[in-house]
Amino acid sequence: MPSLSMPGLRALSASSARPFIGRIREHPAPAACGGAPEILLVRPPTQSLPPGFRAYLLAEPSTGVSVPDAYVLPPGLQPLAEGDVVRVEPSTGRLSVLYRRASLSNSLLVTERCDNYCLMCSQPPRKQDDSWLLDELMELIPLISPDTRELGITGGEPGLLGVRLLQLVEQLKMHLPGTAIHMLSNGRSFSEEDFARRLARIRHPDLMVGIPLYSDLPEEHDHVVQARGAYDETVRGILNLKRSGVRVELRVVIHAFTHERLPELARFIARNLLFVDHVALMGLELMGFAKTNLPRLWVDPLDYQEPLREAVRVMNRAGLSTSLYNHPLCVLPADLHAFARKSISDWKNVYFPECEGCSLREACGGFFASSALKRSRGIAPVLP
Ligand code: SF4
Repeated sequence: MPSLSMPGLRALSASSARPFIGRIREHPAPAACGGAPEILLVRPPTQSLPPGFRAYLLAEPSTGVSVPDAYVLPPGLQPLAEGDVVRVEPSTGRLSVLYRRASLSNSLLVTERCDNYCLMCSQPPRKQDDSWLLDELMELIPLISPDTRELGITGGEPGLLGVRLLQLVEQLKMHLPGTAIHMLSNGRSFSEEDFARRLARIRHPDLMVGIPLYSDLPEEHDHVVQARGAYDETVRGILNLKRSGVRVELRVVIHAFTHERLPELARFIARNLLFVDHVALMGLELMGFAKTNLPRLWVDPLDYQEPLREAVRVMNRAGLSTSLYNHPLCVLPADLHAFARKSISDWKNVYFPECEGCSLREACGGFFASSALKRSRGIAPVLP
């Protein structure tokens, strides 16, 4: 999940001048934390806070607190737990949750800058210098539990960070060698062969780069990403990464500009990019520009069942590992159910009232919370 942030922290004692991050501890006994900054979470009201923690977050107000950096939590904050990592901004009273230990969908936002400007971008790019994000992530990574199964790297476009992206991947390899990393990138930076090679040379044990490709026609891809020449760079990036030994997933978001040529794109991939490791055909998330451009982009999944079926058939027959993301089962033909995955991050995954009593509820990935904006006419419980 991206960082969740809310104001309302109230200082009870002298507070730090600058923002800081720390890992939540629920127990006051000193832990073998190797000097890592730890923040004690205090639930029952108390005045006797043990010294030695970077800060203290109190669920209830207390008086007579003598340790520095003690704060009362704002009401309504989602529960924090042992091992979560937060940022405290004393000057604004803002608390941000950067990592939740219990979540399966943690991701690291590395920049909001991007060299594409996709019509359906869920996180519209910004231009300002946000290099502090990476400084903070370098501090965050050693605080993340080594038991974390997977972490995402998202943007913006991570490739724009250049050498600093490579340093981030090295940091992940050093501190979290058992954690799979899935990086979302438009692939354009990897059109420089040396950059792709240097990423490969890190030899991260479990790294995959997810790269969007929207058409077999360069001009159509460039229109979707609103950047002339992007298609050539993206395809070269995919080739360079695979040539260097980095695993690549192709991602195709399906909407009004992409659904008709899905079979042609599938044939292009099967002929020219057969060596990619996975292809994900994805339903639209109605966030950011996708929301703004909804009238231009929306197509009911019921109305692209045939090109979707043909695309899956072509790629499956070619031996490509193929998945359907973000598609509830009731809008897919039954023969595509085996390709559908529960792909929506836990913190934004919902089901509608129709799903009560549906025989496919357990197997179905449901909806984005934002899907209430525009719903397929095919949503209906499947009866046993
Ligand atoms: S009714 Fe709900 S649970 Fe059933 S297939 Fe449709 S979206 Fe999935």
